[in-house]
Amino acid sequence: MTLVDSTASTVGGPGLPQERRLVTEIPGPRSREIHARKQSAVANGVGITLPVYITAAGGGVVVDVDGNSLIDLGSGIAVTTVGNAAPEVAAAVTAQVNAFTHTCFTITGYEGYVEVAEALNRLTPGDHAKRSALFNSGAEAVENAIKVARSYTGKQAVVAFDHAYHGRTNLTMALTAKSMPYKSGFGPFAPEVYRAPLSYPLRDGGLSGAEAAKIAITQIEKQIGAANLAAIIIEPIQGEGGFIVPAEGFLPALVAWAKANDVVFIADEVQSGFGRTGAMFASEHEGIVPDLVVTAKGIAGGLPLSAITGRAEIMDAPHAGGLGGTYTGNPIACAAALAAIELYERGDLLQRAREIEQAIRAKLTGADPRIAEVRGRGAMMAIELVDAATGEPDAALTGKVAAAAHAAGVVLLTCGTYGNVVRFLPPLAISDALLDEALDVVVDAIAAN
Ligand SMILES: *Cc1c(COP(=O)(O)O)cnc(C)c1O
Repeated sequence: MTLVDSTASTVGGPGLPQERRLVTEIPGPRSREIHARKQSAVANGVGITLPVYITAAGGGVVVDVDGNSLIDLGSGIAVTTVGNAAPEVAAAVTAQVNAFTHTCFTITGYEGYVEVAEALNRLTPGDHAKRSALFNSGAEAVENAIKVARSYTGKQAVVAFDHAYHGRTNLTMALTAKSMPYKSGFGPFAPEVYRAPLSYPLRDGGLSGAEAAKIAITQIEKQIGAANLAAIIIEPIQGEGGFIVPAEGFLPALVAWAKANDVVFIADEVQSGFGRTGAMFASEHEGIVPDLVVTAKGIAGGLPLSAITGRAEIMDAPHAGGLGGTYTGNPIACAAALAAIELYERGDLLQRAREIEQAIRAKLTGADPRIAEVRGRGAMMAIELVDAATGEPDAALTGKVAAAAHAAGVVLLTCGTYGNVVRFLPPLAISDALLDEALDVVVDAIAAN
């Protein structure tokens, strides 16, 4: 029997002491012990960024088996936006798990699934008639969005963009841009997927949104042709690709072209959705109304759930039985989503995301000449680190900054095609004091490297 340290809490939520507390080196001895077992029990391909093993989390902290309390700037990749083990989510899950755990919605239904669909139809951009369908993971939802678009248009080709990330299944690997670690060695990939250039203001010479869209559209027309194109899929703010915010006007121009050419415009809001950017959906910042919206990550406070929501006529195109899956729209995940969505709808979390943006901008803008840009929206912010003399991406520095932050007790994630982006995805439940302390750790880590 393993003895549990009395300092290692097993009850999470906002009641956990909101402090950075290091009682061992990171990772500590118990985490190292479990990690050694992980190495011999879990497939090597399943990596761990920061191999501490967690017993409780809540507010802005995660607590590990050694009793260390780390500041969370990752939210499990933008998932625990409402806070980890949020009491409302925990209560909804507990009630549902005691009522029933599964029926398979496509065998016998339950109201929770329908309620989540109604909420998504109400909350996603646009006031047209909508339908939703629920799945388990972001990648699975993206795959289904493509299925729906092909079914509706009777066309096959799909356009994704440079730096895109849409998942790790076969079709979504094809849509994802970056080879290592997501695609390398895992081909062949799904056919009829094409890539177009993105608006990337820091690195495309400062093209306007309209100019960048014209380049992308010309390439699409010349290399694929609208007559063959079922869908364009794009993240309104790119996630894994580097938190790239396209220049103003880029997304509206793509939406207008898609509309004029019978092409389904799919917004992948898996990372940017549900309050993360200070709006319910990042599309709202650009004033666009996508035909289909893909959601996941923040939707259910940590329970696995994803969805596609879109125009009724598009969503209703596939025949009955064409969409689904054993676990899709699991009742426990639906209960969690309804609790989380109620929290988002109160509005104060969206305001909190905007405050977090201000705090991050204030702390990091001009903090070091190697910070080429502070960008993003709300609590989806990033810095791009470069060689100050040449402007070249500095992945080595980025790695050192992340390692130093980890050693100091801050869960910090990196991203970007060039591996030189530090991203900030704190839970919206983080306190000002903890956020400030974590950002100081990051600034110090940059200065020391
Ligand atoms: C994470 C992510 C996905 C994939 O979601 P999974 O749940 O990991 O399959 C798809 N698109 C975007 C934008 C993401 O950030």
